[in-house]
Amino acid sequence: MAAVMDAPPQSIVKAGKVSIYQPEQQGLIFPEVPSFSHHAAHRQHLKERLVGACRAFAQQGFDYGFAGHLTVRDPENPGLYWTNPMAVHFSQVKVSNLICADHEGRVVEGRHAINRAGFVLHAAVHEMHQDIVAMCHAHTVYGTAFASLGRKLEPITQDAAAFFEDHVVIGDEAGQVAVEVKAGHKVANAFKGVKAAIHQNHGLLTASRHSIESAAFWFIALERCCQQQLLVEATGIAPKLVTPERARYSREHVGSDYIGWLHFQAIWDDLVAAQPDMFD
Ligand SMILES: [Zn+2]
Repeated sequence: MAAVMDAPPQSIVKAGKVSIYQPEQQGLIFPEVPSFSHHAAHRQHLKERLVGACRAFAQQGFDYGFAGHLTVRDPENPGLYWTNPMAVHFSQVKVSNLICADHEGRVVEGRHAINRAGFVLHAAVHEMHQDIVAMCHAHTVYGTAFASLGRKLEPITQDAAAFFEDHVVIGDEAGQVAVEVKAGHKVANAFKGVKAAIHQNHGLLTASRHSIESAAFWFIALERCCQQQLLVEATGIAPKLVTPERARYSREHVGSDYIGWLHFQAIWDDLVAAQPDMFD
């Protein structure tokens, strides 16, 4: 989605005067966060972007059988969530096979079953944090491998600095299939004020207070950071770290929900051009 910009988008102002917006670029094409006056149009938009996030996960190779789920909160009924159908490959998720479920994982709309074991984690986070509108989780190669270390990411690059003091490691009782509500509450507690979690012996989770696009992009980024840190550590040479002060500055400027949303726009445009069946 792109629009001719004649004023700084409100979202950029809120993001903290991000240097990406430059007044001398007025009138040039730049993605703008949409707004909606009707729930139906908003819901359709969210469902399409949720499908886009699933297709992006397929492109990234984030599938592992039926594992992995993405959720977005319904705009009209905040206790309901749209999610991908169980046992459908990320590449085959489309608007017409999405399902809508409540906090308990009961499907209230859609023809497919839900992955209740995984959904309970998302539901607990969404229930505890009303501001979290979207979440992503998958069993990825590098994220899951890194999660076995029970360690946080180090600020080894500007990209990794986006997660500096903005992610947690959830270590207790990890490694079991996360079916219990108790496990869900533990994950939910961990998500206070951060956008990502590394669930030890399990995988990665991201949450967004802005959009499914943001949650999906930061998930892609998190997986990539895990890969990069593993690569660097495999050299046996200690990397030079970004200083805490600079890492904080980078996080504030390039690690926001809005920046995640903005990154995803390039992925979205590519998907729209290549995969029109998303909208089926
Ligand atoms: Zn899982």
